Amino acid sequence: SDYVIGLDQLQEQVRRLALRRGFTLNIMVVGRSGLGKSTLINTLFRSSVLPRTCTASGSEPAKTTEIRTTQTAIHENGVRLDLTVTDTPGFGDRIDNTNCWEPALEYINDQYEKYLMEEQSAQRTRWIHDTRVHCCLYFIPPTGHGLRPLDLEVLQQLHNVVNVIPVIAKADTLTLDERQEFKKNIQLDLAQHRIEVYPFAKYDHPDDYAVNESYRKMVPFAVVGSEQVHNVMGQMVLGRQNGWGLVQVEDPGHCEFHHLRNLLIRNRMQDLIELTSAIHYEAFRRRRLMETNG
Ligand code: GDP
Ligand code: MG
Repeated sequence: SDYVIGLDQLQEQVRRLALRRGFTLNIMVVGRSGLGKSTLINTLFRSSVLPRTCTASGSEPAKTTEIRTTQTAIHENGVRLDLTVTDTPGFGDRIDNTNCWEPALEYINDQYEKYLMEEQSAQRTRWIHDTRVHCCLYFIPPTGHGLRPLDLEVLQQLHNVVNVIPVIAKADTLTLDERQEFKKNIQLDLAQHRIEVYPFAKYDHPDDYAVNESYRKMVPFAVVGSEQVHNVMGQMVLGRQNGWGLVQVEDPGHCEFHHLRNLLIRNRMQDLIELTSAIHYEAFRRRRLMETNG
């Protein structure tokens, strides 16, 4: 295909393995409806993975957060990606959002549990279908202030069980100065509440340190999503028209979509998968074994 989401840019070694086996990547998106979650996923993977929100006027928000899982197989230059996206409609949409993260947390733990059962089953399957969530994209509404109590509460629940990557949703609705200020406040909030998001400094491979540091300075990524292609002087670019002009999604001068995609797909996909297994799943397994052993 002409358009490249970047699967071909994987490190050679990872790529060769991927050519044989393919990748299984499981992503969860969390954030209230209308923040552009579906659009961002479709922009990242260049396909209609998730339907956009139908905002039927007058429809009541769901009573609890629903969990919806969508599977898509993506092929690019001989690499196969089996992508699962878990959406969380209804998350944070009500006036009282007490425990609205529970279904998401439960889903994550259920996948660990399932994996554990498979691992322990008598006729060991050599290959276990991995449904564990490798990455949770957390969408912060573009308020320009800081994290809300709800964000802090949810992130505190999630960061120990899954790789969390926070993003500033619809960043085009903030000016560049507002984004910087917002980002600084959020970084302070995260540090103050000891919320560790991906990439974690303590698990850095020395080779990855410099790149990871640059990601850590940038988190949360100020992103813009769009499935609309525009003609800019003969070039077809993904963009979003707003009051000031055309925001070009993939232009690093316009937003940080480009960096998020590099992190998620091109540079750290394998690491996200491995960390999920080596850190988050291991922690779950140890907790479970301790429970059963009294
Ligand atoms: P979801 O409910 O979080 O999945 O949100 P959707 O992806 O369905 O998007 C909701 C609305 O926001 C749609 O009208 C999108 O076109 C719009 N939208 C999506 N991403 C962006 C963005 O980055 N910036 C702006 N300004 N609007 C966006
Ligand atoms: Mg959606």
